[in-house]
Parts: sequence; structure tokens; C-alpha cells
Amino acid sequence: MQPALPAELPAGAEPAQLTREVFGNVPAWAQTLFYLLAAAAVGVFVYGIVRRVRLWRKGRPACDAVSWRTAVRRLLRDVLLQKRLWGRGMASLAHVLLFSGFVVLLIGTTLIGVEHFLADVLGREPNAPVFHKGLYFGVYELVTDTFGVALIAGCGMFLVRRLRGTGSFARSPADVGVLVALLAIGVTGYAVESLRIIHAETRLAGLSPVGYLCAAAFQGTGIGREAAGQFHFLLWWTHAALALGFIALMPYTRLLHSLAGMVNLAIRDHALGVLQPVSIAEVETTGQIGVARLADFSYRQLIELDACVSCGRCEDSCPAFEAGKPLSPRNVVQDLVGAMNGPGLEQNVHGDVIAAETLWSCTTCGACADVCPLGISPMRMITDMRRYLIGEGALRGSPAVALQKTERAGNPWGMAASDRLAWAAGLDVPLASERPDFEWLYWVGCAAAYDRRAQKVARSVARLLKAANVNFAVLGTEERCTGESARRMGDEFLFQQLAEQNVATFASRGAKKILAHCPHCVNSLRNDYSQFGGQFEVVHHSQLLSELVQQGRLKPAAHGKSAAGSITYHDPCYLARVSGVTEPPRAVLAASASGTGQATVVELPRNRRQTACCGAGGGRMWFDDALAQRVGQTRVREIAASGSDTVAVACPFCLVMLTDGLAAHRPDVQVRDIAEVLAEAVFEREANS
Ligand code: SF4
Ligand code: SF4
Repeated sequence: MQPALPAELPAGAEPAQLTREVFGNVPAWAQTLFYLLAAAAVGVFVYGIVRRVRLWRKGRPACDAVSWRTAVRRLLRDVLLQKRLWGRGMASLAHVLLFSGFVVLLIGTTLIGVEHFLADVLGREPNAPVFHKGLYFGVYELVTDTFGVALIAGCGMFLVRRLRGTGSFARSPADVGVLVALLAIGVTGYAVESLRIIHAETRLAGLSPVGYLCAAAFQGTGIGREAAGQFHFLLWWTHAALALGFIALMPYTRLLHSLAGMVNLAIRDHALGVLQPVSIAEVETTGQIGVARLADFSYRQLIELDACVSCGRCEDSCPAFEAGKPLSPRNVVQDLVGAMNGPGLEQNVHGDVIAAETLWSCTTCGACADVCPLGISPMRMITDMRRYLIGEGALRGSPAVALQKTERAGNPWGMAASDRLAWAAGLDVPLASERPDFEWLYWVGCAAAYDRRAQKVARSVARLLKAANVNFAVLGTEERCTGESARRMGDEFLFQQLAEQNVATFASRGAKKILAHCPHCVNSLRNDYSQFGGQFEVVHHSQLLSELVQQGRLKPAAHGKSAAGSITYHDPCYLARVSGVTEPPRAVLAASASGTGQATVVELPRNRRQTACCGAGGGRMWFDDALAQRVGQTRVREIAASGSDTVAVACPFCLVMLTDGLAAHRPDVQVRDIAEVLAEAVFEREANS
């Protein structure tokens, strides 16, 4: 296809003649010097990268290699399309503009280099390009001219945000310097282009609108062709020096994040709920468990450290930071980066670099890893460091006692296994040992087995399952703690011991489908247990209950008691964020409220995947914080401010934390599990019919 002839093209010119001289107004000696400097810049760049890769390789091996197909798919989705950055307003727009401008101009400059090299090899005249002509040239000019604006706009927006102090961006001189350098490259690029236009008297304004606008502005100062040529040469060198310096410095400055980030986004191996196991053999070889020195992190985690751009999103989302605990996931990562760039990989991370109190503040809610645009998981670094502290016996007080009770009695309450069925008194709940042909194994969990308030949740679930004629059974006294809290607190071998016992019990009872009302148990049975031979389907009770309502096997009363008053719903982190289950609990509540599924709950400001942590995860349930110091108090105030009479939950930990918190703010607000709300609606209907 022939391109339309631009109006500015001299009369009689052919579209195929569209081109411009590469290195116009730059003498041969300057071109040679430029290539020598470019080779030096690339050499410094490659040396820096090789040095960094060598350092990364000193980390421990990581499990689960990522296939190249997955890596390419992630590169397209997360790097090229910037998927992890969408939906964050001006910050997303600024990054997309900066990134797209940078990539397009980098490709454009590389293509110019290729053209010049080929023209040289083929012995072409300066005005007889190899491919830099015709339609290609027209598109090239228009695209690079336009994306230069994107680069400048993106840099400008980031600079304004950093200098004004909007958001949690890093504001170190080095961070600002990088942005100023990029901005200078963009601005000098347009200045060079416009002076070249004046000097060469080009007439292709339609293909370089920004360049021509700048040229018109220069001409307004009265600059002549000759002076434009001299200024062009000077500015061309300034632009070239900035660009080459930028390339050379990439591996040695914050710019490294763009390369390490790309690698990390392609090869990262963690779904939110997955932790890497530690083997006994590994501990026997190294003599320790977990991370004591930087070199104990996996090579992927060392890449993660270099990928961090200190944007502060993790800090903004961290419930522990929000509650004033001594934990900022951004600072954890940046302090580790500082140690890596300072004393090096042999540096002990505990104490001077990261305080134990910082590590114990984490609720493992996953928010930091979920929002990080570079795919970094501060949470996993924290649990790896916790493992070392546990191995050293550094945990004291109530959480340590909970671990001891779990080890001794099989539950953190330290109560007898024979009491595990106390919740089911009078309900005639079938045991797996007595009903071997059960379809669903109902995993009750320690909270519902021993906590009097949570026992009512298990009773509601069992009554609903019976009412819907679900073929289920429970393990009763054969059940042990999943070990979820123990694992996330860092006690890996206590977790493994419990997991192996429970997996053996599941196998002996032939469990294929497991139902649990605790999202922590759901994640552990699904993601932790699959690392130890547990292969079964695991669903949360909200999923099964909403299905039973949909199938008409559970019929809530229309406009019954549950419809009275307003109800809000708190998404548990491990259900909404970690397991991605957000709509089934809402469907259960809607059906309970109206009997028709038409009503909806009052949404809290932070809902679904962006939910706010109640403060109990990661073993925080067992810490003796005074109420005001607990993580999750902001969430409690949000619920109190919603004006709802009831807050529904779908996790026994949330049930406890929100009940305690609301008792101080709005004791009139009821905290109830979704199963209790549904049971009330279903059994009210039955009583009335
Ligand atoms: S870890 Fe991720 S979210 Fe946190 S500061 Fe670094 S890049 Fe930003
Ligand atoms: S997992 Fe949650 S509590 Fe822990 S550092 Fe990340 S955001 Fe903070």
C-alpha cells in the first residue's frame, strides 16, 4: 500500500522518497566517537549485569522452575501490558506513559542504529537508506514523535508526585535524579529534532507534529539555519551523553529495578497462599532453618530485592503498618537491599538490619505481595526470617505457648482430643469411621472444636448440611490442627509433623472432597498439604452453601428475621485475597436476607480482594496485644461507621477479632458467621411451614 502524500512534501515527490538522513549534521569523526562511547557504555552495562547475576546466583536454589511458556506469557501480560499496574489512577497512568515512551524510543533508537550499520555495510549514500524510508519511515516518525511526549509526561507526573509528597513514593535524591535524567533525555530529544528540522529545512510536519511545533517555537526566537546547525550539534552530543550514561548506569542505580523487575515478573513462583517447604536434609546440610544471612534467601528472592522500586504500595496496604506496628514491608525490602549493597550477602539480617519485633508484626495477610507491581513478596521473606528465629528459640510468651500446646495436644488451645466433638452434642453428626461412603469430609478445625463462640458456627454448618441432605462426615477425635498458624509463624517442622498426620488420616478415611469454614484451613489443606502428598478438592463453606441455595436444596425464609436490619460483610484475607472467593458469601447473605437472592449487603469501603485484615493471621491470634494496639482496629472502626446492625464474617479468626474490637466501639453490632445467618433464615422458614 502506498502512503498518502503528506501535504508538506515538495510537489512531484514520491511517497517512497520519504526519508531523512541518519546522523544528519553530525560529521564522520563524531559518528565514530559516538560508536566508541556507545560500545563503552554497553560494556559497562554488561559488566554490571554479569556482576549482579553472579551475586543473585549465590542465593539458595528455588523450588519449582517456571516453564518458558509461562515466563513469556507473564512478560507479555505483566511487563508489556503492565497488567499489575492497572486500576491505580494517576500512578498507573504515569507509569504506563513513562514505560511505553521509554520502550518505543529505545526500539526507535535501536532501529536507527541497525539502519546506519546496514547502510554502512552496503556502502549506501547518506540519502539512500536501506529500510528507513517510505511507509515504514512515515510510521516510525509519527510513532517516535508521539511517544516522546508520553515519556516526558510520565516523568513529569512522577516528579510532581514525588516533590509534592503525594503517595508513598521513594523521595531519595537518587530516585529524583533518575527521573530528571529521563526527562532531560526526552526534552533534549525534541530539541535536537526541532533544530535538525530548521537546519535541514525539512517539510514533513505531518509526520513529526511535536518536533515541528518545537521548531516553530525555536524559529520564533529568530534563530537562523546556520545557528540551528551549530546548536543542533551541541545538543546532539548532550542528548547522546545522557542516553549513553543512562545505559551504562542502569545496573548500578535504582534503574536496575526495571531489569530485575522484568526477570522477577517472568520467573516468580509464588501464588499468595504458597510457602516453600524446608526439608530435614537441607537443615542437616546447612545446620540451620530459615534465613539468617542474605545468602540464605533464594536466588529469586535476591532478584526480588533488586526489583524493588520503593514505590510504597506495600506499605500503604499493610495492616500492621496502618496499626502503628514496627513493620513496613517496603522498609523490610529496602533495608535488606541496603545490606546487600553494603556489607554483602554474608551479612546477618537479624537484629541490626531487621528487628524481631518487625518480623512478628506481620499477619501474613498477603496484601503487600498482592499489590506489588514488581511481583515481590515481602511476606515470604518475613516468614523465611521467622523460621530462623523459631529455630533459635527466640519466640517467647503467649505465641510460644500456643506452639507448645499445638505440639503437645494437637491444638493451640491445649485441650484434649477427646473434646473435639463437644460442639456437635445432640446433632447426631456422622463420623468418617462410621460412614465410609461419605462424599464430603467436613473439616471442623480447632477454633470450632474448642472455642465456645465458634462452636455455634460448626453447629450451623452441620445443621444446614443435614437439611440439604448432603452426604458428609467429620473426623471427630482423629482431627489435628492443620498447623497453618505454626507454619506462618515459622515453625515449619511442627507444621510438617501435623500435615503428615492429617494426610495419613485423610488417606485412611478415603477423603476426596473436603469442606471447611475456616479460610486458613482451606488454604493450608489446598496449598500446604499438596506439598506433602495431600491431593483432594477443598472448598470453603460459603461455596458449598451458595450452591445448595442455588440448587433449591436450602430454602431461606422470604423476608424473615434475617431481612430485618442492615448487614455488612467483612471479607477475610485468606478467603478473598488468597483464595479469590468473594461472591459466594455475598450470595449466601443475599439469599438469607430476602429468600430470593435479590437483596445485597452494605459494602465496606475496603472490600473483596482489597479487604482489610482483622489482625489474626500469621499467628497474631496468639499474641497478647492490648485491644488498642491490635492490628485491625481501623477495620473495626470502618464496620462501626457503616451503620450496620450485623457484620457477617466467613472465618473463625475474624469472628473473634471483630467481636472483641466491636465490643469496645459498637457493642450493639452483632458479629455472625454467614452459616449462622443462613441457618437462621432456613430454619425460620421450616418452623413457619
Ligand atoms: S516491595 Fe513492591 S510494592 Fe513494596 S516498595 Fe518495593 S516495589 Fe513497591
Ligand atoms: S503480609 Fe500483610 S501484614 Fe505482613 S507485611 Fe505484608 S501487608 Fe503487612
